Amino acid sequence: MTESSSAPVVARFCPSPTGNPHVGMARTALFSWAFARHHGGRFVFRIEDTDASRDSQESYDLLVDVMRWLGLDWDEGVEVGGPNGPYRQSERMGIYADVAQRLLDAGLAYKAYDTAEELEERREKARAEGRPSGYDGLHRDLTPEQQAAYEAEGRKPVIRFKMPQKDWTFDDLVRGPITFGAENVQDFVIVRANGQPLYTLTNPTDDALMGITHVLRGEDILSSTPRQIAMYEAFAQIGVGSGQVPRFGHLPYVTGAGNRKLSKRDPESNLLGYRDDGFLPEGLLNYLALLGWSLDAERDVFTLAEMVEAFDISRVNPNPARFDLAKCEAINGDHIRLLPADEVTERLVPHFAAAGLIGDPASEDESALLAAAAPLVHERIAKLTEAVGMLRFLFVDEADFSVNEADAAKQFDEKGLATVAAAREALAGLEQWTTEGIETALRAALIDGLGLKPRLAFGPVRVAVTGSRISPPLFESLELLGASRTVARLDAALACTGS
Ligand code: GLU
Repeated sequence: MTESSSAPVVARFCPSPTGNPHVGMARTALFSWAFARHHGGRFVFRIEDTDASRDSQESYDLLVDVMRWLGLDWDEGVEVGGPNGPYRQSERMGIYADVAQRLLDAGLAYKAYDTAEELEERREKARAEGRPSGYDGLHRDLTPEQQAAYEAEGRKPVIRFKMPQKDWTFDDLVRGPITFGAENVQDFVIVRANGQPLYTLTNPTDDALMGITHVLRGEDILSSTPRQIAMYEAFAQIGVGSGQVPRFGHLPYVTGAGNRKLSKRDPESNLLGYRDDGFLPEGLLNYLALLGWSLDAERDVFTLAEMVEAFDISRVNPNPARFDLAKCEAINGDHIRLLPADEVTERLVPHFAAAGLIGDPASEDESALLAAAAPLVHERIAKLTEAVGMLRFLFVDEADFSVNEADAAKQFDEKGLATVAAAREALAGLEQWTTEGIETALRAALIDGLGLKPRLAFGPVRVAVTGSRISPPLFESLELLGASRTVARLDAALACTGS
């Protein structure tokens, strides 16, 4: 046996399509992808859907969508094909049946006829006597006569892999040398009694046949690694794959609030939620990269290309990484600020369409308004959807426009309404409807005319026209809104609160 070291890198991502794609999966995909790209190798995207009771087509579609949205491209795999396909395990059942048979024929696996009750009874006994409670190997060496007798009873056998009795040591790419004692890895099931192949068989079979050289995956399956290495050693004997054992690297747990392991079911786990919530793929990927890795001590914000260039698996921190949504948002905001103006506009389009503020496709006027408005929020948002809230007032007509009630209650007192009235007067006849013209007119009317402090002068106007105390810069906003709509909103504020 040789360990692959100089061969070109082939890494893979091979999720099971159950439920919604989650953050931990995306982190695994990103690290495997970055590893492959850093080494100029290939990246394989395989789907492990051998459990029909848990897997779904919907989940498969979401996984493909999310990989495309993130921009983690694959050289070989589902949807794109490749020389070692098919890449959905549900379409490879014949291969697993064949490999299982060859393992049986070579005496590297065997049929075991134990019933669930028998197994449980022996496990209990082992536990009571302080012995390891894994499979005790009772059916390892049944004679053909004994097998025939069990078959005659109508028992259906599972297939168990014959685990060589030795200690297992491997050099984890993240954690360094790890040893599992022989007593902790017993013979394990690779095919169920109903013929269904298990992950224990399908995953190493495909990694071997697809020439995978480096397996990066979550720490939760670290304990399966000695079994998989043993499978590779068996494959070398029966000619499945190249005979090389891949290198393994186990990525740290991701923890959520209270340092609990982030579970699939935690709302912050849902990957598609980030897309809908207005994260940029580059912002999310940057943050996911920080779950166990860093570019350097100085810099939290980097591009995917920079990550690929610098990615070094031996620098992944094996300790649990805490998922911090506030930091994730802050980094996303940094990436939004890094985008050129026209690119921000483009990224905002689907969110404005989803909110019903522009058509799908947008009209020419809507596109022009969005392009003009985007610069007003570009520097101020951490998520694209925040722009929807901040710019809504520009895209709704008077019938759909409403003012935040709490802000109105605060701003539209007697003094506030007097301010709105003065602003209306100053703006109604304004000839030069530009940011400068509006600013000059409002300053003259409210600061010079009413003697208000600048800090207080514009609040009531802002609420009347944009609907909220928090808005993009006021004068620019009014310019975009236009004279007649501005005056109409000032009138509306005076009418409904003044009565
Ligand atoms: N299908 C397995 C999972 O989703 C893949 C594990 C591995 O990467 O080996 O956990």
